[in-house]
Amino acid sequence: MTNDTHDAALTSWVESAQEADTDFPIQNLPLGIFESTDRQPRPGIAIGDQILDLVAAMELGLLGDSLATTIHECERVRSLNPLLAGGRSTLAALRNTASAMLRGNVDEGVAAEKYRGGLLVALDDAELLLPARVGDYTDFYASIYHATNVGSMFRPDSPLLPNYKWIPIGYHGRASSLVRSGTPVRRPNGQTRDDAASAPPTFGPTRRLDYELEVGAFICAGNMQGDQIAIADAESHVAGLCLLNDWSARDMQAWEYQPLGPFLAKNFATTVSPWLVTLDALAPFRRPAFVRAEGDPQPLPHLSSDDDQRRGGFDITLEVLIGTALMRTQNIAPARISIGSFASMYWTVAQLVTHHASNGCNLEAGDLLASGTVSGETKESRGCLLERTWRGTEPLTLPGGETRRFLEDGDEVIMRGWCERNGFRRIGFGECAGVVLSA
Ligand code: MN
Repeated sequence: MTNDTHDAALTSWVESAQEADTDFPIQNLPLGIFESTDRQPRPGIAIGDQILDLVAAMELGLLGDSLATTIHECERVRSLNPLLAGGRSTLAALRNTASAMLRGNVDEGVAAEKYRGGLLVALDDAELLLPARVGDYTDFYASIYHATNVGSMFRPDSPLLPNYKWIPIGYHGRASSLVRSGTPVRRPNGQTRDDAASAPPTFGPTRRLDYELEVGAFICAGNMQGDQIAIADAESHVAGLCLLNDWSARDMQAWEYQPLGPFLAKNFATTVSPWLVTLDALAPFRRPAFVRAEGDPQPLPHLSSDDDQRRGGFDITLEVLIGTALMRTQNIAPARISIGSFASMYWTVAQLVTHHASNGCNLEAGDLLASGTVSGETKESRGCLLERTWRGTEPLTLPGGETRRFLEDGDEVIMRGWCERNGFRRIGFGECAGVVLSA
């Protein structure tokens, strides 16, 4: 499963890639689309505090013919979609090529020196765009802790609906309102109705704006309409993962969600982190699928394979921080309000993919499948304010003394994710961030 690109002893001539706390050592090599003052949007790979410009690498003849054609096409369409369409083998070829290109010692100098001018762009000098042009976006509900917590608030008698342990629950989201990390998010207007009141609903700015901490999976090779994706093949359709904030207006959601599910409470904005961390990079951090409680049904045969049960999970630590406008004026750093793990998900990424295509629905390169709120068993691992403050009844106190039930104007939500394991280099996802603007 791992190869020489994962070797913890590998170093790069990019000095900052050796820093212990970097998200982007040479063992990671995540893919994104960036632009800078003198470079049009183009594909790149994060390395330390730099970006490897893949178009510059192509122009220097450092990619093979086939990869060069694909990178040129990515530059033309300003997205990773052509690369994703090439499937896992193309992504692996690029990983191997980039790893070889970036290896070396900082003081080895001469060969590396000629690269430095054109091949690298400082992350600080670049704007990071959405990695793919997302044709379709689907959001799941794959944490049983999240589903149980939220269900118990809205339906105390039957928190978990009878289908939950049999099918991965999801809904079709909206691709047009996916935004890149750093994009401010305007508080949405919508219809709300106080739960207990018999008065008619009112229209206005949401009073219960929330975030949802999620992991997104980018689809690479798609499937033909009418064809299924076998669970054993599911991961050959997944390029890699990113972080995602499914901004949610809880008061609008409570009023609109029955009978067809989330709609305007969710589709005003969804923030996506800039770097696609490939499944290849994540290979050292795989773990068994979630162990179901005794008495839970086993997944139906089409949603289960020995391999997926053995290594369908991911050890990704995830945290959420909030920084308020007041904290920024007082120079108080954003404060962590939750920390959890993607390993707590009831359904694996492979199961989400297989379920999605099980009716013959065609997935396409660049499609984005989000996990649903990542919540674990403990309070500290709850991935949205609705759960974290228990519907606002247990407000959080921030450094500086402010309290939060839901998000207020000026609040910045920052999500981070990383993987650690003895014997391997730590890799990270970068940030998924956004500030709330007033309605
Ligand atoms: Mn969600």
